[in-house]
Amino acid sequence: MKRALNFNAGPAALPEAVLKRAEKELVDYKGTGMAVMEMSHRSKEFEEINDSAQKLLRELMSIPDDYEVLFLQGGASLQFSMVPMNLMIEGKQAYYVLTGSWAEKALTEAKRLGPAVIAASGKENGYRAIPSLSELKLEQSGAYLHITTNNTIYGTQWHVPPSCPDIPLVADMSSDIMSRQVNISDYGLIYAGAQKNLGPSGVTVVIIRKDLLQRSKDTLPTMLDYRTHAKNTSLYNTPPTMAIYLLKLVLEWADSLGGVGALEKQNKEKADILYAAIDESDGFYNGHAEHASRSLMNVTFTLQSEERTKTFLAEAKNLGFTGLAGHRSVGGCRASIYNAVPIEHVEQLALFMKEFSNK
Ligand SMILES: *Cc1c(COP(=O)(O)O)cnc(C)c1O
Repeated sequence: MKRALNFNAGPAALPEAVLKRAEKELVDYKGTGMAVMEMSHRSKEFEEINDSAQKLLRELMSIPDDYEVLFLQGGASLQFSMVPMNLMIEGKQAYYVLTGSWAEKALTEAKRLGPAVIAASGKENGYRAIPSLSELKLEQSGAYLHITTNNTIYGTQWHVPPSCPDIPLVADMSSDIMSRQVNISDYGLIYAGAQKNLGPSGVTVVIIRKDLLQRSKDTLPTMLDYRTHAKNTSLYNTPPTMAIYLLKLVLEWADSLGGVGALEKQNKEKADILYAAIDESDGFYNGHAEHASRSLMNVTFTLQSEERTKTFLAEAKNLGFTGLAGHRSVGGCRASIYNAVPIEHVEQLALFMKEFSNK
């Protein structure tokens, strides 16, 4: 069997070693005579999986003890609502930095629940750049400041988080979590759907500073209250057991490679290869993002015409590349190069880009 040259934006490539391990353990997990999918979430075996996934994530991301790690459902999209439900404070604004479609969606949901305003926006500029910090307009008394650390659709990324010591920083890290070293203490809350850098879809990771749990009100629906999940080590109701098991395997794989520092180094190398292919093409390929805001995870570019883009994508497909079409809302091309995408596949793509432009 030949593995695809997979540049999907999400769900996305998983490490081959993880898939093989899962295959080996699928029908009979550690001599239980059962698949993980078939066992009780209250069993000793599953509790072990749940605990070690949480412990490994804490170690790999250096998450301090004053933070809770939660495994939830509903994707990052449900967090667009859960964040304001739990963190808004009466009489204070929630601030949102608009850097793309996901940030817009997060703001839309927040506005349904309370006062939420735009602190800065890159929209007029076609979301080619992360707004500069001096553009941020904040009152001291805000409830929180929300950012999207990596903009999956436009291919931009915050390289330094905004500094806002008086307001908790909330970050949607769905498409760059664990791709680089992050100082968790800079954030009040981090959330991410697993299906880009951490595993399959179905599980959403939330990392929340414990003092912020005090903001949740007793009138919240039980399942939408962070405290419910914090109190029950994310086992209040039936969790997505298979997704959490695969998350654990991905974390073990990351650990075996040397952890987040090693992943970050490789991610930089991979991004450099593709941005060089764009920059050295004499305008044959054009990067969407401004240089200083370029994402290490999603490399977005256009060709000179729709016609040429179509030919490029068709030839790429014939060669086994998949997932290279840009998001339906922006067109062009996008190569998503998350943690699990091997550098060899990136080299093959850069080579194809060169050959295609020469031809
Ligand atoms: C993919 C993505 C989402 C949406 O995630 P779901 O799990 O589908 O809800 C939200 N934010 C960002 C930055 C994303 O990349």
